[in-house]
Formats: sequence, structure tokens, C-alpha cells
Amino acid sequence: MKSNATEEQVDAIVRSAREEGLEATAKTRFGEKVVEIPNGQMLDPVTLKAMPGVERTEQSIRRCVRVSRAAKAENSLVHVRDVTFGGKELVMIAGPCAVESPEQLLEAMHAVKAAGAHMLRGGAYKLRTSPYSFQGLGESALKLLADARDRSGLPIVSEVVDEESVLLASMYVDMLQIGARNMQNYVLLKQAAHSGKPILLKRGVAATLEEFLNAAEYIYAEGNEQVVLCERGVRGFADYSRNTLDLNVVPAVKEYSHLPIITDPSHGTGMRSMVIPMARASIAAGADGVMVEMHPSPETALSDGYQSLHPEELEAMMVELARIAPVVGRILKRRG
Ligand code: PEP
Ligand code: MN
Repeated sequence: MKSNATEEQVDAIVRSAREEGLEATAKTRFGEKVVEIPNGQMLDPVTLKAMPGVERTEQSIRRCVRVSRAAKAENSLVHVRDVTFGGKELVMIAGPCAVESPEQLLEAMHAVKAAGAHMLRGGAYKLRTSPYSFQGLGESALKLLADARDRSGLPIVSEVVDEESVLLASMYVDMLQIGARNMQNYVLLKQAAHSGKPILLKRGVAATLEEFLNAAEYIYAEGNEQVVLCERGVRGFADYSRNTLDLNVVPAVKEYSHLPIITDPSHGTGMRSMVIPMARASIAAGADGVMVEMHPSPETALSDGYQSLHPEELEAMMVELARIAPVVGRILKRRG
């Protein structure tokens, strides 16, 4: 409602909703007079908007409060050391699926640096489909990541999977990743939030937009507002790719939330040949950045080699995305 809307005008909205059989409640939310109408999408927004005292109508996602656009109109910025997500500048994260050895990580670090990407990724705790697959090096990987950050200046993101890894990773890395498999592990979300570190929250393979945003809401509710969302592909019926990168969710998130969103076309496609095309599409769709897997020697990688870029492909991708960025009002600056 307009700030000068009268009681009668507010009552008229409530009454007209009730006439349609909908429960409406008048309340004050973040200092604004609002009328909340569950299932209000059944009302015609044009008619509603024309009623006296109405400033605007918004369709909100059920139960998500702090992360919704209704709570905050301007885009949120998330800072990870000297890197900022959600501004005009795009953020590129690259690195191996898993940290495998000191040599492998240093080579990857040099390649990320040479390509001008902004952050280095690398898994220390891997949640693998098979219990017999490589499970990650744990704390020793975190130490290697911290060392790579100290050598290169690249901020580090790495996945956490439980309370112990949250505590350890918080000592070594700059941003904690919650993986797709854990998006609805609410205990873990709270523990990660309490670390005070910025969080990269990946979407579950079958999560709705409402579930995705409410997972972020859990982190916000614990007082941590440094959340970046990541679309990493959903499960569909495609038999030509591992997952389907759901790019529709990028503009949907932008409409319903003020949080930054990046994409992960590596897990989103599962095939190296599709990674760069879908990275291009992500930027065109309005994503705030891209995270890709890159390995100095993908053929010998211990995990996800088939979807990891070669170092020279990362370089080529950076050049292409830098050309697309201005078309959609963004910039991609190489990190010096
Ligand atoms: C990853 O980024 O290494 C990863 C395991 O991703 P996801 O949780 O999206 O599968
Ligand atoms: Mn991976």
C-alpha cells in the first residue's frame, strides 16, 4: 500500500480478497503497509493495482522472507576477500573437482591465474556416487588450498559436508560451498552459516525455486547474509548430458530474490564440449558469474575429468565471456 493509504483503502483490499474466498491480512512489513493474500495469484493484479491506495502488487514465494525481493529491492553484494558477487563485474571461479596432490593444485592455480579468473575452487571432501570412488584428501587438501591462496592471492571456495568439515574449512578457505546433495541439510546450513564465512549454495538436483530460496533463507535466518546461489543442473530425461542446466532459474531468481546467482555448467552438463556454450548462455541469461571445473590433465583426474576444461579452454572461455558481458550490461575484468 502507499504510505498514505487510509484504513478504509486497506480494508477495501482485504474485503475484495475475502469476496473471492481468499484469506487476506493487513500488516506492517519492514516499515511498509502490506496486505498479504495467500494464493493471491488467483486475483487479477491489474484490477488490484487500480484500487485506491495500492502502490504495487508482488507475487512472493511462500515463506521466504529475508531473501525475497519484497524484503529488499536492490541487488545484494557478497564479498569474498577482494572479489564481489552481484555487482556489475562478473566473477569466474575455476579449479579442479578435487584437490589430488600438491603438484596438481599448484598447476591448476597457475592456470586459473594465467586465465585471469577470480577465484580458485577445489574439493577436499567429495560426496561420490560410489563409496569406492576417491573421497577427497580432507584437511590436507584444505592446507594445500590455503597455501595456493597465499601464493596466488586467489580467494578459495571448497565444499563442506558436516560439522567437522565446516570447522576445519573455516580455518583455511574463504568461502564455504554447500553441495547439491546437501542443499536441504538444514543442520549443515545452520552450521555453515555460523562460521560467518560467505556461502556458495548449490541447488539440489530436484529443488524447486521455493526450496532453493528457502535454503538460503535458513542461512539468512542465522544472521549470515553472505550467500551466493549456484545453479548446477537438475535431473531431467536428457540422455545426452549428465544434468540439465536450468537457465530459466537465473531470471526467476533475479525476479524473486536480491541474491547473486552463478551457474556451474560443468556439473550442469557433465560434458566438456558443452561447458563453454552453456557458460556463454549463463552470462547472456544474467548470471553473476560462472564456476567451472578445470584440471591441468583432465584425462588423469581422480574425479569429473570428462567434464573438466583443459587450461587453454579456460583461457578461451574467459575471452569469449568478456565479449558477451557488455551486451548484457556487465563487465568481465581479468584478475591481475
Ligand atoms: C562440486 O562442485 O564439486 C560438486 C560436487 O557439485 P554438486 O554439489 O553441484 O554436485
Ligand atoms: Mn565435480
